[in-house]
Amino acid sequence: MKITSLWKGEKFTLSFEVFPPKTDSAFESVKTATEEIAKLKPSFMSVTYGAGGGTSRYTLEIAKNILKKYNVPTLAHLTCVSSTKETVHKKIEEIRSSGIENVMALRGDIPAGMEDADRSKWDYRYAIDLVRELKASGADFCIGGACYPEIHPESTDQKEDIRHLKEKVDAGCDFLTTQMFFDNNLLYNFLYKIREAGITVPVIPGVMPITNANQVERAIKLSGSFMPQRFKSLVDRFGKNPAAMKQAGIAYATDQIIDLFANGIKNVHIYSMNKPDVAERILRNLSDILN
Ligand code: FAD
Repeated sequence: MKITSLWKGEKFTLSFEVFPPKTDSAFESVKTATEEIAKLKPSFMSVTYGAGGGTSRYTLEIAKNILKKYNVPTLAHLTCVSSTKETVHKKIEEIRSSGIENVMALRGDIPAGMEDADRSKWDYRYAIDLVRELKASGADFCIGGACYPEIHPESTDQKEDIRHLKEKVDAGCDFLTTQMFFDNNLLYNFLYKIREAGITVPVIPGVMPITNANQVERAIKLSGSFMPQRFKSLVDRFGKNPAAMKQAGIAYATDQIIDLFANGIKNVHIYSMNKPDVAERILRNLSDILN
């Protein structure tokens, strides 16, 4: 099922992101965690590709398992930046033949040490190159792209970032998912600007429940997200008490989602980080709203 078809109705939907194991030995535990999340029947699940320390080897295996065993639509992530055309063609064919219809087309982060390399020799420089490749494959994929309400860290100018985003969408993105953010006003402002720039595809806001204090630093490093004072106070007050921090982090994410729903957003993606208990608690908090 193409996930864009899920967003046509009036109902609110929640989807969850999971990541593949970093090592072979972690495969079974990650598979179990993703199955526990699938049992909660989210609208769809995305599986990252080589992000957050996860390997790219298991993305498809995890995605296929969720789709086949639990009938939850899946979105397989794919990056292109350090890949050859041959590898990318092979991956696209693997996704197509596995029956997965949704692909998140990403550039990926520039590998360490290659920041100053001559990029003109690379097969893929930007995510738009992968979007074009997916289109050229002839497979009828539903294609997603990433977007950044607080600007991509390599961009210095939001106008320029949005101009490149528009080119990426015009090349064939059917929807966009945002980087995490902790202040909804940043998203509302971003949506206003991209709509003004002529980007009309659905935009799915990504919300990250921060459930332990260590995650905060990693999240800021990864996303460069602005931390509102309300959020900082919560980490200051509860950061040293794991159970309290988890409860407060879930409540903060729940609040963010309710505010998004109240302001016209119908579909939210949760960076659930392979944590079924967190996914379950958020769904429970929103049970009447989602029904
Ligand atoms: P792009 O769209 O190519 O943009 C990257 C930068 O290049 C931006 O600054 C953009 O403005 C600029 N740019 C684009 N086109 C041009 C052009 N023609 N000329 C000049 N500049 C240009 N990483 C992973 O490794 N695996 C994952 O599974 C993964 N999942 C993600 C999911 C989401 C929802 C998000 C938001 C990010 C994810 N990432 C993942 C991280 C992502 O790979 C990085 O943020 C990466 O640095 C940029 O990827 P992109 O696809 O947004 O790149």
